[in-house]
Amino acid sequence: MRIRVLALAAVVAGALVTVSAQNAQRQVSLLVSGGIVVTVDPVNRVIPNGAVAIDGTDIVAVDTAENIAKQFRGRDTINASGQIILPGLINTHTHAAMVLYRGLADDLALSEWLNKYIFPAEAKTVSPAFVRAGTRLAALEMIQSGTTTFADMYYFEEEVAAATKAAGLRGVLGQTIIQFPVADAKTPADALVRAEAFIKSFKDDPLITPAVAPHAMYTLDGPTLKAARDLSRRYKVPTLIHLAETRDEIQAAQERFKSSPVVYLDSLGFLGPGVLGAHGVWVSDADIAVLKARGVGVSHNPESNMKLASGTAPVPAYLRADVAIGLGTDGAASNNDLDMFEAMRFAALLHKHASVDPRALSARTALEMATIRGARALGMDKRLGSLEPRKYADLITVSTAGARQTPMYDPLSHLVYVMRGDDVVNTIVNGQVLMRDRRVLTLDEKAVLAEGRAWIDKVRAAVK
Ligand SMILES: [Zn+2]
Repeated sequence: MRIRVLALAAVVAGALVTVSAQNAQRQVSLLVSGGIVVTVDPVNRVIPNGAVAIDGTDIVAVDTAENIAKQFRGRDTINASGQIILPGLINTHTHAAMVLYRGLADDLALSEWLNKYIFPAEAKTVSPAFVRAGTRLAALEMIQSGTTTFADMYYFEEEVAAATKAAGLRGVLGQTIIQFPVADAKTPADALVRAEAFIKSFKDDPLITPAVAPHAMYTLDGPTLKAARDLSRRYKVPTLIHLAETRDEIQAAQERFKSSPVVYLDSLGFLGPGVLGAHGVWVSDADIAVLKARGVGVSHNPESNMKLASGTAPVPAYLRADVAIGLGTDGAASNNDLDMFEAMRFAALLHKHASVDPRALSARTALEMATIRGARALGMDKRLGSLEPRKYADLITVSTAGARQTPMYDPLSHLVYVMRGDDVVNTIVNGQVLMRDRRVLTLDEKAVLAEGRAWIDKVRAAVK
């Protein structure tokens, strides 16, 4: 009898296990399943037939497709077989609305390019409507080419923020502070007021991180640089600045302050965690040590630096010093697109070429710079930059089906040396699918393109 009770108990317990296994299959909002998952996590896990489970805004699990299928049911599923699943790319420096100046003027010396084309065009065309149209067009391009987060420095940044949110992208958006009168501020004091209002409007936004963007040390006086930095410290938001981009900037700093731009900014108390310096081309080892000691992030923009012949940033030295360094495209006027796959490829090739050492920057490091290292440069690596549970569900899938991707021995190699933005199939930000099978869901593609073309005549007239 005793034995029969025990046997019955075992049967009941067995049934309970089966029932609870079914109940344990948790329902989540989205499964992205069946592709090669390149996690860029701390152990660089690559899962050949993997899947990512997403619930709401967050990743809840990253595992083999089989294990994910056992544990989760998705209300929606994206079949990513034949694709690579990877973290969304992070563009750490751009001026999104400048896509409307794409190809306006090329192959000129920097001063001629700026003074004859970019500044006159900006003086006559930058307006809320321009920034709106430009940011929408940039957002379309970024979604199509796999960028999920971008850091922006421009004017009318509230328009950038509204267009970015509507497109569903994540943005670290900096209101520009500059010494001379510009479209959205007559004085730097006006710009600071604008920046504070902008921070207040977007401080707790799930997609937008408002920031302060003092343009550069050579376009601002010391008190304004300090005021801009104080503002961002007061509200605990990032500071974005152009830093040591050209040799002219180094000369200006030497003549005016007898120091490098890095040392000058440090003497103002400007440098610290939360500061991201774009370019960092002309820096000494001592400058790099200061940037590391102060916890400053750097954005490397290989295409812009090459196109404007600004110089070659010492990226291997930054990496050796363990400075947080990400990749950027810069504005489309000097690139001329926002494709972060190109940025990875150019970074890898440029530093091999410049150092005559093919080991100088590996595919793995280039991919990290476009993802986790970029997140670290922006101070957002706890929630962004890799596919791991509890991070934001910002991810993309990339096709491996074409002639150009065949055969494939190493997905990391292909991501950096073969892929283009056009190969992106699905783009997901904050758990929301922004592009599905190459169809952008959050923007009316035809309308955005027509709106972009509508600016051609006005921009041409501005530089006549
Ligand atoms: Zn820039």
